Amino acid sequence: MAEGTVVIGAGQAGVQAAEALRSGGYEGAITLLGDEPHGPYHRPPLSKAWLAGEIDADQLVMRAPDMLARKQIALRTGVRVAAIDRAAKVLRLSDGSTLPYDGLVLATGSTPRALTLPGATAPNVLPLRSRDDASTISAELQACIAGAQPVVVIGGGFIGLEVAATARKKGATVTVLEAAPRLLGRVLAPMLSNWYANLHRSHGVQLELGIGIEAIETGADGRAVAVRAADGRRFSAGLVVVGIGVTANDQLAQAAGLECDRGIVVDACARTSDPAIVAAGDCTARRLPDGTLLRLESVNNATEQGKSAAAALLGQKRPFAGTPWFWSDQYDKKLQMAGLSMGADAWAVRGSMAEGPFSVWHYRDGKLVAVDAVANAKDHLLSRKLLDAGLTPTPEQVADASFDLTSLLKP
Ligand code: FAD
Ligand code: NAP
Repeated sequence: MAEGTVVIGAGQAGVQAAEALRSGGYEGAITLLGDEPHGPYHRPPLSKAWLAGEIDADQLVMRAPDMLARKQIALRTGVRVAAIDRAAKVLRLSDGSTLPYDGLVLATGSTPRALTLPGATAPNVLPLRSRDDASTISAELQACIAGAQPVVVIGGGFIGLEVAATARKKGATVTVLEAAPRLLGRVLAPMLSNWYANLHRSHGVQLELGIGIEAIETGADGRAVAVRAADGRRFSAGLVVVGIGVTANDQLAQAAGLECDRGIVVDACARTSDPAIVAAGDCTARRLPDGTLLRLESVNNATEQGKSAAAALLGQKRPFAGTPWFWSDQYDKKLQMAGLSMGADAWAVRGSMAEGPFSVWHYRDGKLVAVDAVANAKDHLLSRKLLDAGLTPTPEQVADASFDLTSLLKP
Protein backbone atom coordinates (compact mmCIF):
# COMPACT_ATOMS: atom_id res chain seq x y z
CA MET A 1 0.00 0.00 0.00
CA ALA A 2 1.62 3.27 -1.10
CA GLU A 3 -0.76 5.88 0.29
CA GLY A 4 -1.27 4.20 3.65
CA THR A 5 -4.32 3.96 5.87
CA VAL A 6 -6.34 6.87 7.18
CA VAL A 7 -8.51 6.57 10.28
CA ILE A 8 -11.29 9.18 10.58
CA GLY A 9 -12.11 9.78 14.25
CA ALA A 10 -9.51 9.80 17.05
CA GLY A 11 -11.80 8.21 19.66
CA GLN A 12 -12.04 4.74 21.20
CA ALA A 13 -12.60 2.83 17.95
CA GLY A 14 -10.18 4.90 15.85
CA VAL A 15 -7.26 4.53 18.27
CA GLN A 16 -7.93 0.82 18.65
CA ALA A 17 -8.02 0.29 14.89
CA ALA A 18 -4.81 2.28 14.31
CA GLU A 19 -2.93 0.41 17.04
CA ALA A 20 -4.25 -3.00 15.98
CA LEU A 21 -3.15 -2.32 12.39
CA ARG A 22 0.37 -1.59 13.59
CA SER A 23 0.54 -4.52 16.03
CA GLY A 24 -0.91 -6.73 13.29
CA GLY A 25 2.17 -6.07 11.13
CA TYR A 26 0.98 -3.26 8.89
CA GLU A 27 4.04 -1.34 7.68
CA GLY A 28 2.44 1.50 5.70
CA ALA A 29 1.69 5.03 6.93
CA ILE A 30 -1.18 5.38 9.42
CA THR A 31 -2.86 8.78 9.87
CA LEU A 32 -5.34 9.28 12.71
CA LEU A 33 -7.57 12.30 12.09
CA GLY A 34 -9.76 13.88 14.77
CA ASP A 35 -11.90 17.00 14.57
CA GLU A 36 -11.69 17.75 18.30
CA PRO A 37 -8.88 19.99 19.58
CA HIS A 38 -7.73 17.31 22.04
CA GLY A 39 -5.79 14.11 21.46
CA PRO A 40 -7.58 10.81 22.21
CA TYR A 41 -9.24 10.79 25.65
CA HIS A 42 -11.58 8.55 27.65
CA ARG A 43 -15.24 9.56 27.39
CA PRO A 44 -16.75 7.47 30.26
CA PRO A 45 -15.27 9.63 33.08
CA LEU A 46 -16.85 12.77 31.59
CA SER A 47 -20.15 12.05 33.36
CA LYS A 48 -18.50 10.46 36.40
CA ALA A 49 -15.07 11.15 37.98
CA TRP A 50 -14.15 14.03 35.62
CA LEU A 51 -17.41 15.91 36.19
CA ALA A 52 -17.07 15.21 39.92
CA GLY A 53 -13.59 16.78 39.85
CA GLU A 54 -12.04 13.55 41.15
CA ILE A 55 -9.49 13.06 38.35
CA ASP A 56 -7.19 15.45 36.54
CA ALA A 57 -6.61 15.98 32.82
CA ASP A 58 -3.75 13.46 32.66
CA GLN A 59 -6.05 10.67 33.81
CA LEU A 60 -8.46 11.45 30.98
CA VAL A 61 -5.82 10.89 28.29
CA MET A 62 -6.30 7.63 26.37
CA ARG A 63 -3.07 7.78 24.33
CA ALA A 64 -0.51 10.56 24.56
CA PRO A 65 0.59 11.83 21.13
CA ASP A 66 4.20 10.70 21.77
CA MET A 67 3.02 7.16 22.46
CA LEU A 68 1.18 7.16 19.11
CA ALA A 69 4.28 8.63 17.45
CA ARG A 70 6.39 5.75 18.81
CA LYS A 71 4.02 3.40 16.97
CA GLN A 72 4.40 5.55 13.88
CA ILE A 73 0.79 6.65 13.99
CA ALA A 74 0.53 10.27 12.83
CA LEU A 75 -2.12 12.05 14.91
CA ARG A 76 -3.73 15.16 13.45
CA THR A 77 -6.25 16.93 15.69
CA GLY A 78 -8.60 19.80 14.86
CA VAL A 79 -9.06 18.44 11.33
CA ARG A 80 -12.46 17.49 9.98
CA VAL A 81 -12.97 15.25 6.98
CA ALA A 82 -15.56 16.92 4.75
CA ALA A 83 -15.95 14.30 2.01
CA ILE A 84 -14.75 10.92 0.75
CA ASP A 85 -14.07 10.47 -2.97
CA ARG A 86 -14.18 6.68 -3.20
CA ALA A 87 -13.40 6.52 -6.91
CA ALA A 88 -10.16 8.52 -6.49
CA LYS A 89 -9.52 7.20 -2.93
CA VAL A 90 -9.02 10.72 -1.66
CA LEU A 91 -10.38 12.58 1.37
CA ARG A 92 -11.27 16.25 1.27
CA LEU A 93 -10.45 17.97 4.58
CA SER A 94 -12.13 21.00 6.15
CA ASP A 95 -9.00 23.12 5.62
CA GLY A 96 -9.33 22.60 1.86
CA SER A 97 -6.47 20.11 1.57
CA THR A 98 -6.78 16.53 0.35
CA LEU A 99 -5.41 13.26 1.65
CA PRO A 100 -5.15 10.06 -0.38
CA TYR A 101 -5.71 6.61 1.13
CA ASP A 102 -5.43 2.96 0.24
CA GLY A 103 -7.35 1.77 3.29
CA LEU A 104 -9.89 3.82 5.24
CA VAL A 105 -11.35 3.33 8.73
CA LEU A 106 -14.53 5.24 9.59
CA ALA A 107 -14.68 5.70 13.37
CA THR A 108 -16.71 8.89 13.54
CA GLY A 109 -18.78 8.12 16.65
CA SER A 110 -22.19 9.59 17.34
CA THR A 111 -23.87 12.91 18.13
CA PRO A 112 -26.31 13.62 20.98
CA ARG A 113 -29.91 13.89 19.84
CA ALA A 114 -31.07 17.49 20.24
CA LEU A 115 -34.32 18.63 21.81
CA THR A 116 -36.44 20.41 19.23
CA LEU A 117 -38.47 22.58 21.57
CA PRO A 118 -38.82 26.32 22.10
CA GLY A 119 -35.90 27.48 24.27
CA ALA A 120 -33.79 24.38 23.64
CA THR A 121 -30.91 26.40 22.17
CA ALA A 122 -30.42 28.48 25.35
CA PRO A 123 -26.73 28.52 26.39
CA ASN A 124 -27.38 26.63 29.64
CA VAL A 125 -29.26 23.77 27.92
CA LEU A 126 -26.40 21.38 27.26
CA PRO A 127 -25.60 17.95 25.80
CA LEU A 128 -22.71 15.82 27.08
CA ARG A 129 -20.52 14.10 24.53
CA SER A 130 -17.09 15.73 24.44
CA ARG A 131 -14.48 16.92 26.87
CA ASP A 132 -15.41 20.50 25.99
CA ASP A 133 -19.10 19.75 26.68
CA ALA A 134 -18.09 18.39 30.10
CA SER A 135 -16.03 21.50 30.90
CA THR A 136 -18.99 23.74 30.05
CA ILE A 137 -21.38 21.63 32.14
CA SER A 138 -18.89 21.57 35.02
CA ALA A 139 -18.67 25.39 35.11
CA GLU A 140 -22.47 25.74 34.92
CA LEU A 141 -22.88 23.12 37.65
CA GLN A 142 -20.49 25.00 39.98
CA ALA A 143 -22.47 28.19 39.36
CA CYS A 144 -25.75 26.40 40.17
CA ILE A 145 -24.35 25.00 43.41
CA ALA A 146 -22.93 28.38 44.42
CA GLY A 147 -26.20 30.17 43.59
CA ALA A 148 -28.50 27.44 45.00
CA GLN A 149 -30.11 27.00 41.60
CA PRO A 150 -31.55 23.60 40.62
CA VAL A 151 -30.27 21.33 37.85
CA VAL A 152 -32.81 19.65 35.56
CA VAL A 153 -31.75 16.55 33.62
CA ILE A 154 -33.86 15.56 30.61
CA GLY A 155 -33.59 11.82 29.90
CA GLY A 156 -33.25 9.00 32.41
CA GLY A 157 -30.73 7.01 30.35
CA PHE A 158 -27.04 6.48 31.10
CA ILE A 159 -25.97 10.10 30.60
CA GLY A 160 -28.87 11.54 32.55
CA LEU A 161 -28.54 9.20 35.53
CA GLU A 162 -24.76 9.45 35.77
CA VAL A 163 -24.90 13.26 35.59
CA ALA A 164 -27.71 13.30 38.17
CA ALA A 165 -25.67 11.12 40.57
CA THR A 166 -22.55 13.25 40.12
CA ALA A 167 -24.44 16.52 40.53
CA ARG A 168 -26.09 15.22 43.71
CA LYS A 169 -22.72 14.09 45.05
CA LYS A 170 -21.49 17.65 44.54
CA GLY A 171 -24.48 19.05 46.42
CA ALA A 172 -26.78 20.29 43.63
CA THR A 173 -30.56 20.06 43.73
CA VAL A 174 -31.45 17.69 40.88
CA THR A 175 -34.62 16.75 39.01
CA VAL A 176 -34.64 14.02 36.33
CA LEU A 177 -37.41 14.10 33.71
CA GLU A 178 -37.83 10.84 31.77
CA ALA A 179 -40.39 10.38 29.00
CA ALA A 180 -40.70 6.59 29.43
CA PRO A 181 -42.53 5.00 32.37
CA ARG A 182 -39.29 3.63 33.81
CA LEU A 183 -35.55 4.33 33.89
CA LEU A 184 -33.23 2.69 31.35
CA GLY A 185 -36.29 0.88 30.08
CA ARG A 186 -34.61 -0.45 26.95
CA VAL A 187 -31.82 -2.22 28.82
CA LEU A 188 -32.84 -3.03 32.39
CA ALA A 189 -35.41 -5.49 33.77
CA PRO A 190 -38.43 -3.70 35.28
CA MET A 191 -37.38 -4.59 38.84
CA LEU A 192 -33.92 -3.10 38.27
CA SER A 193 -35.42 0.08 36.77
CA ASN A 194 -37.46 0.41 39.98
CA TRP A 195 -34.37 -0.28 42.08
CA TYR A 196 -32.52 2.56 40.29
CA ALA A 197 -35.50 4.88 40.73
CA ASN A 198 -35.39 4.17 44.49
CA LEU A 199 -31.60 4.64 44.56
CA HIS A 200 -31.85 8.09 42.99
CA ARG A 201 -34.79 9.12 45.14
CA SER A 202 -32.95 7.93 48.27
CA HIS A 203 -30.13 10.30 47.30
CA GLY A 204 -32.59 13.18 47.06
CA VAL A 205 -33.18 13.31 43.29
CA GLN A 206 -36.68 14.36 42.26
CA LEU A 207 -37.60 11.84 39.59
CA GLU A 208 -40.52 12.31 37.19
CA LEU A 209 -41.33 9.37 34.91
CA GLY A 210 -43.66 9.30 31.90
CA ILE A 211 -43.44 13.06 31.56
CA GLY A 212 -43.76 15.04 28.33
CA ILE A 213 -41.82 18.27 27.94
CA GLU A 214 -43.38 21.21 26.16
CA ALA A 215 -40.81 24.02 26.32
CA ILE A 216 -37.76 25.47 27.96
CA GLU A 217 -38.64 28.84 29.43
CA THR A 218 -35.97 31.51 29.03
CA GLY A 219 -35.31 34.78 30.87
CA ALA A 220 -34.56 38.24 29.46
CA ASP A 221 -30.89 37.24 28.98
CA GLY A 222 -31.89 34.23 26.85
CA ARG A 223 -30.82 31.69 29.47
CA ALA A 224 -33.10 28.83 30.47
CA VAL A 225 -34.91 29.40 33.76
CA ALA A 226 -37.34 26.48 33.80
CA VAL A 227 -38.54 23.38 31.97
CA ARG A 228 -42.29 23.32 31.30
CA ALA A 229 -43.99 19.94 31.19
CA ALA A 230 -46.98 19.06 29.02
CA ASP A 231 -49.09 18.62 32.17
CA GLY A 232 -48.45 22.28 33.07
CA ARG A 233 -45.86 21.69 35.77
CA ARG A 234 -42.79 23.92 35.78
CA PHE A 235 -39.34 22.85 36.95
CA SER A 236 -36.98 25.74 37.76
CA ALA A 237 -33.50 25.31 36.36
CA GLY A 238 -30.14 27.07 36.38
CA LEU A 239 -28.76 24.31 34.15
CA VAL A 240 -30.53 21.79 31.89
CA VAL A 241 -28.55 18.72 30.81
CA VAL A 242 -30.05 16.83 27.87
CA GLY A 243 -29.33 13.08 27.54
CA ILE A 244 -31.96 11.72 25.18
CA GLY A 245 -29.84 9.37 23.10
CA VAL A 246 -27.50 9.68 20.14
CA THR A 247 -27.51 9.32 16.36
CA ALA A 248 -24.69 7.66 14.45
CA ASN A 249 -22.31 9.95 12.53
CA ASP A 250 -22.85 8.26 9.17
CA GLN A 251 -23.25 11.39 7.01
CA LEU A 252 -19.81 11.10 5.37
CA ALA A 253 -20.47 7.46 4.52
CA GLN A 254 -23.96 8.24 3.21
CA ALA A 255 -22.67 11.01 0.97
CA ALA A 256 -20.02 8.61 -0.36
CA GLY A 257 -22.73 6.09 -1.29
CA LEU A 258 -21.95 3.44 1.35
CA GLU A 259 -24.86 1.43 2.69
CA CYS A 260 -26.23 3.14 5.82
CA ASP A 261 -29.30 2.41 7.92
CA ARG A 262 -29.24 4.51 11.13
CA GLY A 263 -25.48 3.81 11.07
CA ILE A 264 -22.85 2.61 8.60
CA VAL A 265 -23.84 -0.96 7.80
CA VAL A 266 -21.00 -3.41 8.52
CA ASP A 267 -20.71 -7.17 8.80
CA ALA A 268 -19.37 -9.03 11.85
CA CYS A 269 -15.82 -8.27 10.61
CA ALA A 270 -16.47 -4.48 10.43
CA ARG A 271 -16.44 -4.47 6.60
CA THR A 272 -18.60 -1.97 4.68
CA SER A 273 -19.92 -2.39 1.16
CA ASP A 274 -16.54 -1.00 -0.14
CA PRO A 275 -13.59 -3.41 0.27
CA ALA A 276 -11.19 -0.53 0.96
CA ILE A 277 -13.34 0.89 3.78
CA VAL A 278 -14.09 -0.53 7.22
CA ALA A 279 -16.04 1.08 10.07
CA ALA A 280 -16.08 0.69 13.84
CA GLY A 281 -17.77 1.95 16.99
CA ASP A 282 -20.82 4.12 17.60
CA CYS A 283 -21.09 5.09 13.91
CA THR A 284 -21.91 1.54 12.81
CA ALA A 285 -24.96 -0.72 12.52
CA ARG A 286 -23.86 -4.36 12.47
CA ARG A 287 -25.71 -6.85 10.23
CA LEU A 288 -26.50 -10.00 12.21
CA PRO A 289 -26.83 -13.46 10.65
CA ASP A 290 -30.66 -13.19 10.72
CA GLY A 291 -30.46 -9.96 8.64
CA THR A 292 -31.39 -7.56 11.44
CA LEU A 293 -29.16 -4.62 12.37
CA LEU A 294 -27.60 -4.15 15.81
CA ARG A 295 -26.38 -0.78 17.05
CA LEU A 296 -24.20 -0.82 20.16
CA GLU A 297 -22.85 2.32 21.79
CA SER A 298 -20.14 1.23 24.23
CA VAL A 299 -16.42 1.11 24.85
CA ASN A 300 -16.40 -2.68 24.51
CA ASN A 301 -18.08 -2.50 21.09
CA ALA A 302 -15.75 0.27 19.85
CA THR A 303 -12.70 -1.71 21.01
CA GLU A 304 -13.80 -5.02 19.50
CA GLN A 305 -14.93 -3.52 16.20
CA GLY A 306 -11.72 -1.47 16.03
CA LYS A 307 -9.72 -4.70 16.21
CA SER A 308 -11.99 -6.37 13.62
CA ALA A 309 -11.65 -3.36 11.30
CA ALA A 310 -7.84 -3.48 11.43
CA ALA A 311 -7.86 -7.24 10.79
CA ALA A 312 -10.15 -6.77 7.78
CA LEU A 313 -7.73 -4.26 6.21
CA LEU A 314 -4.96 -6.81 6.78
CA GLY A 315 -7.02 -9.35 4.81
CA GLN A 316 -8.06 -11.37 7.89
CA LYS A 317 -11.48 -12.25 9.27
CA ARG A 318 -11.88 -11.37 12.94
CA PRO A 319 -15.59 -11.36 13.72
CA PHE A 320 -16.85 -9.70 16.90
CA ALA A 321 -18.19 -12.88 18.45
CA GLY A 322 -17.90 -12.42 22.24
CA THR A 323 -20.66 -11.41 24.64
CA PRO A 324 -21.02 -7.60 24.62
CA TRP A 325 -20.62 -5.91 28.01
CA PHE A 326 -21.27 -2.46 29.45
CA TRP A 327 -20.99 -0.63 32.76
CA SER A 328 -22.35 2.41 34.55
CA ASP A 329 -21.29 4.08 37.81
CA GLN A 330 -23.97 5.86 39.82
CA TYR A 331 -23.19 6.97 43.40
CA ASP A 332 -21.06 4.19 44.91
CA LYS A 333 -22.78 1.44 42.87
CA LYS A 334 -21.18 -0.14 39.83
CA LEU A 335 -23.62 -1.71 37.36
CA GLN A 336 -22.03 -4.26 35.02
CA MET A 337 -24.11 -5.65 32.18
CA ALA A 338 -23.30 -8.65 29.99
CA GLY A 339 -25.27 -9.75 26.92
CA LEU A 340 -28.23 -8.13 25.18
CA SER A 341 -31.48 -8.03 27.12
CA MET A 342 -33.91 -6.87 24.42
CA GLY A 343 -36.99 -9.06 24.16
CA ALA A 344 -36.39 -10.69 27.56
CA ASP A 345 -39.58 -12.25 28.93
CA ALA A 346 -38.51 -13.67 32.30
CA TRP A 347 -36.03 -12.73 35.01
CA ALA A 348 -34.37 -14.29 38.05
CA VAL A 349 -32.56 -12.50 40.87
CA ARG A 350 -29.46 -13.78 42.63
CA GLY A 351 -28.58 -12.16 45.96
CA SER A 352 -30.49 -9.54 47.88
CA MET A 353 -31.83 -6.48 46.05
CA ALA A 354 -32.50 -4.89 49.45
CA GLU A 355 -29.02 -5.35 50.85
CA GLY A 356 -26.83 -6.25 47.85
CA PRO A 357 -24.77 -7.40 46.13
CA PHE A 358 -27.13 -8.91 43.57
CA SER A 359 -27.59 -9.68 39.90
CA VAL A 360 -30.61 -9.86 37.58
CA TRP A 361 -30.64 -12.64 34.98
CA HIS A 362 -32.64 -12.09 31.76
CA TYR A 363 -34.22 -14.98 29.83
CA ARG A 364 -35.81 -15.01 26.37
CA ASP A 365 -37.79 -18.12 25.39
CA GLY A 366 -36.12 -19.98 28.26
CA LYS A 367 -32.56 -19.06 27.19
CA LEU A 368 -30.20 -16.87 29.23
CA VAL A 369 -29.53 -13.69 27.18
CA ALA A 370 -28.12 -11.13 29.61
CA VAL A 371 -27.10 -10.53 33.23
CA ASP A 372 -26.99 -7.19 35.08
CA ALA A 373 -24.83 -7.25 38.20
CA VAL A 374 -24.92 -4.48 40.82
CA ALA A 375 -21.81 -4.11 43.01
CA ASN A 376 -21.14 -7.71 42.09
CA ALA A 377 -18.08 -8.19 39.87
CA LYS A 378 -18.03 -11.91 40.67
CA ASP A 379 -21.46 -12.57 39.11
CA HIS A 380 -20.60 -10.30 36.17
CA LEU A 381 -17.45 -12.23 35.27
CA LEU A 382 -19.14 -15.58 35.81
CA SER A 383 -22.13 -14.59 33.68
CA ARG A 384 -19.84 -13.58 30.80
CA LYS A 385 -18.30 -17.05 30.87
CA LEU A 386 -21.74 -18.70 30.91
CA LEU A 387 -23.02 -16.47 28.07
CA ASP A 388 -19.85 -17.01 26.01
CA ALA A 389 -20.33 -20.77 26.43
CA GLY A 390 -24.06 -20.55 25.55
CA LEU A 391 -25.02 -22.08 28.92
CA THR A 392 -28.35 -21.39 30.63
CA PRO A 393 -28.69 -21.99 34.38
CA THR A 394 -32.32 -22.49 35.40
CA PRO A 395 -33.99 -19.57 37.21
CA GLU A 396 -34.14 -21.82 40.29
CA GLN A 397 -30.36 -22.40 40.19
CA VAL A 398 -29.80 -18.65 39.82
CA ALA A 399 -32.09 -17.76 42.71
CA ASP A 400 -30.49 -20.38 44.99
CA ALA A 401 -27.43 -18.60 46.44
CA SER A 402 -26.08 -21.95 47.68
CA PHE A 403 -26.00 -23.39 44.14
CA ASP A 404 -22.48 -23.17 42.65
CA LEU A 405 -23.04 -21.73 39.15
CA THR A 406 -19.38 -22.31 38.25
CA SER A 407 -20.15 -26.06 38.33
CA LEU A 408 -22.02 -25.55 35.03
CA LEU A 409 -18.77 -24.53 33.36
CA LYS A 410 -17.00 -27.76 34.27
CA PRO A 411 -16.97 -30.43 31.57
P1 FAD B 1 -16.11 8.51 19.75
O1 FAD B 1 -15.40 8.17 21.02
O2 FAD B 1 -17.24 9.48 19.82
O3 FAD B 1 -15.01 9.06 18.71
C1 FAD B 1 -15.35 9.54 17.44
C2 FAD B 1 -14.50 10.75 17.14
O4 FAD B 1 -14.60 11.05 15.75
C3 FAD B 1 -14.95 12.00 17.88
O5 FAD B 1 -13.84 12.63 18.49
C4 FAD B 1 -15.52 12.86 16.76
O6 FAD B 1 -15.45 14.24 17.05
C5 FAD B 1 -14.66 12.45 15.60
N1 FAD B 1 -15.21 12.75 14.25
C6 FAD B 1 -16.50 12.62 13.84
N2 FAD B 1 -16.63 12.98 12.55
C7 FAD B 1 -15.40 13.37 12.14
C8 FAD B 1 -14.89 13.86 10.90
N3 FAD B 1 -15.68 14.02 9.82
N4 FAD B 1 -13.58 14.16 10.82
C9 FAD B 1 -12.75 14.01 11.89
N5 FAD B 1 -13.19 13.53 13.07
C10 FAD B 1 -14.49 13.21 13.21
N6 FAD B 1 -19.58 3.46 27.30
C11 FAD B 1 -19.36 2.43 28.14
O7 FAD B 1 -19.21 1.29 27.68
N7 FAD B 1 -19.31 2.62 29.50
C12 FAD B 1 -19.45 3.86 30.04
O8 FAD B 1 -19.41 4.00 31.27
C13 FAD B 1 -19.66 4.96 29.17
N8 FAD B 1 -19.80 6.20 29.67
C14 FAD B 1 -19.95 7.25 28.80
C15 FAD B 1 -20.07 8.54 29.33
C16 FAD B 1 -20.23 9.62 28.47
C17 FAD B 1 -20.33 11.01 29.05
C18 FAD B 1 -20.30 9.42 27.08
C19 FAD B 1 -20.47 10.60 26.15
C20 FAD B 1 -20.21 8.15 26.56
C21 FAD B 1 -20.03 7.05 27.41
N9 FAD B 1 -19.94 5.77 26.93
C22 FAD B 1 -19.72 4.72 27.79
C23 FAD B 1 -20.04 5.49 25.49
C24 FAD B 1 -18.65 5.38 24.87
O9 FAD B 1 -17.84 6.46 25.28
C25 FAD B 1 -18.79 5.36 23.35
O10 FAD B 1 -19.58 4.25 23.00
C26 FAD B 1 -17.42 5.30 22.68
O11 FAD B 1 -16.66 6.44 22.98
C27 FAD B 1 -17.57 5.15 21.17
O12 FAD B 1 -16.30 5.24 20.57
P2 FAD B 1 -16.18 5.73 19.05
O13 FAD B 1 -14.72 5.70 18.76
O14 FAD B 1 -17.11 4.97 18.21
O15 FAD B 1 -16.70 7.22 19.06
P1 NAP C 1 -29.77 6.57 26.23
O1 NAP C 1 -29.08 5.68 27.20
O2 NAP C 1 -30.29 6.05 24.96
O3 NAP C 1 -30.95 7.22 27.08
C1 NAP C 1 -31.76 8.28 26.64
C2 NAP C 1 -33.01 8.30 27.52
O4 NAP C 1 -33.72 9.52 27.30
C3 NAP C 1 -33.96 7.16 27.21
O5 NAP C 1 -34.45 6.63 28.40
C4 NAP C 1 -35.05 7.86 26.40
O6 NAP C 1 -36.29 7.22 26.49
C5 NAP C 1 -35.10 9.20 27.08
N1 NAP C 1 -35.71 10.24 26.25
C6 NAP C 1 -35.72 10.32 24.89
N2 NAP C 1 -36.35 11.46 24.49
C7 NAP C 1 -36.76 12.10 25.63
C8 NAP C 1 -37.45 13.33 25.88
N3 NAP C 1 -37.84 14.13 24.87
N4 NAP C 1 -37.73 13.69 27.17
C9 NAP C 1 -37.32 12.91 28.20
N5 NAP C 1 -36.66 11.71 28.02
C10 NAP C 1 -36.36 11.34 26.76
O7 NAP C 1 -28.84 7.79 25.82
P2 NAP C 1 -27.99 8.81 26.68
O8 NAP C 1 -28.22 8.59 28.13
O9 NAP C 1 -28.27 10.14 26.09
O10 NAP C 1 -26.51 8.41 26.34
C11 NAP C 1 -25.93 8.80 25.11
C12 NAP C 1 -24.86 7.85 24.70
O11 NAP C 1 -23.82 7.77 25.65
C13 NAP C 1 -25.36 6.46 24.49
O12 NAP C 1 -24.64 5.94 23.40
C14 NAP C 1 -24.96 5.76 25.75
O13 NAP C 1 -24.80 4.38 25.55
C15 NAP C 1 -23.64 6.42 26.03
N6 NAP C 1 -23.34 6.37 27.47
C16 NAP C 1 -23.10 5.17 28.01
C17 NAP C 1 -22.84 5.09 29.35
C18 NAP C 1 -22.61 3.77 29.95
O14 NAP C 1 -22.55 2.77 29.24
N7 NAP C 1 -22.43 3.73 31.26
C19 NAP C 1 -22.83 6.22 30.14
C20 NAP C 1 -23.11 7.43 29.55
C21 NAP C 1 -23.35 7.47 28.20
P3 NAP C 1 -36.67 6.17 25.31
O15 NAP C 1 -35.74 5.02 25.49
O16 NAP C 1 -38.08 5.85 25.57
O17 NAP C 1 -36.41 6.89 24.01
